[in-house]
Amino acid sequence: MQKDKYFDLVIIGAGHAGCEAALAGARLGLETILFTISMESVAMMPCNPNIGGTSKGHLVRELDALGGQMGKNIDKTFIQSKMLNSSKGPAVHSLRAQADKQAYTNEMRKTLENQDNLTLRQAEVTELIVNEGILTGVKTVSGAVYHCKAAVLCTGTYLKARCIYGDVSQYTGPNGLQAAGPLSDCLRNLGVRLLRFKTGTPARIDGSTIDYSVLEEQIGDDPIVPFSFSTDPDDIQKEQVSCWLAYTNTHTHEIIRNNLDRSPLFSGTIEGTGPRYCPSIEDKVVRFSEKERHQIFLEPEGLYTNEIYMGGMSSSLPEDVQEDMIHSMVGLENAKIVKNAYAIEYDCIDARQLNPDLEFKNISGLYSAGQMNGSSGYEEAAAQGLIAGINASMKILGKDPLILDRSDAYIGVLIDDLVTKENKEPYRMMTSRAEYRLLLRQDNADLRLRGKGHETGLVDDTVYEKLLEKEQTIIDEIERLEQTHIGNSETVQDLLSRYESTPLKSGISLAELVRRPELSYSIIAPLDYDRPALAADIQEQVNINLKYEGYIERQKRQVEQFKKMEKKTIPADMDYDQVQSLRLEARQKLKAIRPVSIGQASRISGVSPADVSVLTIWLEKHRKE
Ligand SMILES: Cc1cc2nc3c(=O)[nH]c(=O)nc-3n(C[C@H](O)[C@H](O)[C@H](O)COP(=O)(O)OP(=O)(O)OC[C@H]3O[C@@H](n4cnc5c(N)ncnc54)[C@H](O)[C@@H]3O)c2cc1C
Repeated sequence: MQKDKYFDLVIIGAGHAGCEAALAGARLGLETILFTISMESVAMMPCNPNIGGTSKGHLVRELDALGGQMGKNIDKTFIQSKMLNSSKGPAVHSLRAQADKQAYTNEMRKTLENQDNLTLRQAEVTELIVNEGILTGVKTVSGAVYHCKAAVLCTGTYLKARCIYGDVSQYTGPNGLQAAGPLSDCLRNLGVRLLRFKTGTPARIDGSTIDYSVLEEQIGDDPIVPFSFSTDPDDIQKEQVSCWLAYTNTHTHEIIRNNLDRSPLFSGTIEGTGPRYCPSIEDKVVRFSEKERHQIFLEPEGLYTNEIYMGGMSSSLPEDVQEDMIHSMVGLENAKIVKNAYAIEYDCIDARQLNPDLEFKNISGLYSAGQMNGSSGYEEAAAQGLIAGINASMKILGKDPLILDRSDAYIGVLIDDLVTKENKEPYRMMTSRAEYRLLLRQDNADLRLRGKGHETGLVDDTVYEKLLEKEQTIIDEIERLEQTHIGNSETVQDLLSRYESTPLKSGISLAELVRRPELSYSIIAPLDYDRPALAADIQEQVNINLKYEGYIERQKRQVEQFKKMEKKTIPADMDYDQVQSLRLEARQKLKAIRPVSIGQASRISGVSPADVSVLTIWLEKHRKE
């Protein structure tokens, strides 16, 4: 007879979400167990071999500032690193690192296996044990029962997963790993609304069969900037691998068009809804028919293999068509496919069933994170996993949850969009989603979030004190530049004319010089004799805060308005039927989503500004009574 087991916290799934959730729980001192269907899927990257990129790099930096693991893990396992959009404004600068996939998994597994209070277990969870709306445990396929005080669902792309290409359709998870079946049925029986989403991945080809001489090389940055604020930049300067740029052509597009009838995507075999922002190649050829070619990024999967990932070429076309379309591309005429491209559809939840702390509204103690919440991407998953892990732990410890709003972090935007808006397709983070993106830069994630990480207990005192020191150094340096005035010497005139900057008529502060568009903190260094030796990240903050001061101040004023709406809370037991003058559609939406504030209510589609003012007035009137 199996003896029941007891843990504080259960994490179901060891993907990017589950790893962060489990480490958070264990590091906060809770006895935590992390389940996975297969140990091979620990922090597995079933798709693109990179971490970060536009807006996703922001999520990784924010997660790192809060005490998460992904940033540290990629700093130890990257094989190429690049700061994207560096020619544009700092709000869209975004780090992206190519990972050695195997090394990434091994490194995360090592961290998990050596974490106190954490147990790893290969077993499929088939059932959640819920009594009168409270989660009390889980059951695995063997019938073993694990009692717990809270659990986090991080099942990714595995629930009722089906992989499809051409006529091939297999009920497996990614890379042929076992899918998870019964848990979907259990969730439905608990009244959880499930959605059917889909995503896809490109073929992998053998790098030794590619003719690189006719392709464009993409090299990494020098020097390399780390993802984690805890990584010393000097420790990660190393030789990097290259990526390569290839292109489809009109012949490739013709092959695809001639076989659209054999595409499960267009024949309707695939039921799940896919991401518009990560379209398959056949989707791109149909939607952008005027384009003569599409960029395909050839990215090494790791140092241990010749396998090459074809970024931008995900597909579910039949195998023979995949071969023909690859062989039609310059440089890939003799390429050998190692793994076919395929689409995967899976069950996930409608995340509007969750509170902003990622707990289910109707099942106390059950949280959800990652692809399971309808998002797509390693970074989106890891960010949610960390927040769900922290909040499940805070609940067990009887502390307040960590809720980041849209002005605090990209993570706040991500979660607010998931739990407030109707997502009809996998949700992918983009800078355009963050209305306060000038404040939410990747370079200041530590200044924005270390304090919150410290409050939860995940960021220790030493790290936090270092942050406070950094903050003070930035303030002192800006103050020094404001107070340091220089006259119109020959050296000054030379430098100003070299940068075609307006000559001086009288003395000026160094800060004023930095504010000039054509100058910067580093450019005026020769004029600044008493300049202290400061770290690169501090210099960057000084420069950005001076150069974008006006925009930053304006955005801060917008945030004040936003915060006022967020502070107008709505009682959890609010009876919307009492508010007579609310429109029917708005009443239905408000009753279904039960927003926590007027701010969140105003972001629900179908709730108009007029409905918001009706609700605000009603609440103010009843609050007074
Ligand atoms: C084919 C494919 C293509 C993709 N393409 C893209 C893309 O183009 N762009 C993009 O941004 N993202 C893409 N992704 C998504 C990306 O992989 C995911 O966003 C990310 O891995 C999600 O992380 P996660 O932690 O939520 O789940 P996953 O990484 O999927 O991990 C889920 C974990 O849960 C475990 N598990 C599941 N059910 C159970 C159970 N019942 N009991 C125990 N353990 C369980 C699994 O073993 C696994 O460890 C793709 C994924 C796949 C599979």
